[in-house]
Amino acid sequence: MRVMKFGGTSVGDPARIVNLCEIVSAARSLPPVVVVSAASKVTDMLLTAARNAARGEVDAGPIVARVHGLLDAFSLARDLVAAELAGLDAALARIAAKGAADAEDTDLVASFGERISARAIAATLAQYGLDARPYDAFDVGMITDDRFGAAEPVADHAARLRAHLLPRIEAGVVPVVTGFVGKTLDGRVTTLGRGGSDYSAAVIGAALDCDEIEIWTDVPGVMSSDPRVVPGAHTIASLSFDEAAELAYFGAKVLHPKTIHPAVRRGIPVRVKNTFAPEHPGTVITTEGDRSARGPRAIAHKRNITVVHVVSTRMLLAHGFLSRIFEVFTRHRVVVDLVATSEVSVSCTVDREEGLADAVRALGEIGEVSVTRGRCLVCVVAARILTDPSVCPRIFTALGRENIAVQLLSMGASAINVGLVVDDALGDVTVRALHREFFGA
Ligand code: ADP
Ligand code: ASP
Ligand code: MG
Repeated sequence: MRVMKFGGTSVGDPARIVNLCEIVSAARSLPPVVVVSAASKVTDMLLTAARNAARGEVDAGPIVARVHGLLDAFSLARDLVAAELAGLDAALARIAAKGAADAEDTDLVASFGERISARAIAATLAQYGLDARPYDAFDVGMITDDRFGAAEPVADHAARLRAHLLPRIEAGVVPVVTGFVGKTLDGRVTTLGRGGSDYSAAVIGAALDCDEIEIWTDVPGVMSSDPRVVPGAHTIASLSFDEAAELAYFGAKVLHPKTIHPAVRRGIPVRVKNTFAPEHPGTVITTEGDRSARGPRAIAHKRNITVVHVVSTRMLLAHGFLSRIFEVFTRHRVVVDLVATSEVSVSCTVDREEGLADAVRALGEIGEVSVTRGRCLVCVVAARILTDPSVCPRIFTALGRENIAVQLLSMGASAINVGLVVDDALGDVTVRALHREFFGA
């Protein structure tokens, strides 16, 4: 079996949907389970609609127009998604009546993008002669906790997914399952977080013990950098799970950071492929990766990073300084990406605002706190970085050449990354300078 996940662009315009159908039709040597995202931009449109509804403006018009446009292109009946569009209208009306949208309301609204996609794509695949049937993930076992906006599958999710999906697959059905969404045990719709359809695909792939998890997207695999920033970026043919996890975590949007974990646990290869060029081999991510790889493999970056800096001379040489700081972050559920310390200070980067204000207040009791927003975290992911003495000098030479000031630096204990923080405005220049230094393009 294989899981084939198609992202927003792959399900977002008629020409790409034709590619998708051809790709799935050709994949019958290993029975496929298709996982779909919302059509590109639709999730953003849904989130805007939820915000507008909270201000009393209920308008699903632009979303309806986009969805109908896609159905019309394949001469599919608009009725196919009438129930989902009605559900969306009702959810927006409820938000307007309350005058506010909490995380639960927002997840319900956001879920309709994937739910509409699954129906449209299954119907299109049926035109290609496949017995494709749409499923909302929560109806085939994707039960999660109630952390709306970042939900996690419950402990027995794998058994549930298997019980629902295996009999259908054995009967020759090609399930077309929604990415991104789940439901709590008591029936409330959740989402796994932005970009979370990759994670859905990996969770389903691991539950079914698939031979391969395929992530079909709009670029030819995991590349040496974001091709939107570095036009000369190249595809990396093979990566280890560790390298891919590091890249995803530090901003390579092509894979959601959680995607790797379910695959690692069961040792299932993840292949990242381009819907626009199916014959391109893309990237394969496996436990061992490319054993012959040496030195830098890719430059990832994450914008809009906040740096929290805590100074405490009182704590000079005192033990417990770091543990007190991290206890505060833990209590407020703030995830820290990168850390640099001196004897009396600690600097950390975080990429989400949730819980931050409370954490900063609590840190004020430990030391003097300053918060700097608008930074860019750039990360050089390299194989065996610790044994290669040339990597760090080359990083500094490249940055020096462009006059780029580094504000924070950390070399991962994983020994496969060097992370640095620069001004957001210098993010692209930094990524390009490092890419040129290491890859000559
Ligand atoms: P999908 O909708 O298919 O999930 P995403 O937009 O989430 O696609 O991810 C694909 C995008 O990730 C690419 O268009 C590219 O701009 C971006 N990206 C960032 N870093 C990388 C990288 N290292 N390799 C490939 N793509 C990257
Ligand atoms: N549609 C969701 C998003 O835009 C999930 C995904 O595409 O992976 O974030
Ligand atoms: Mg994505």
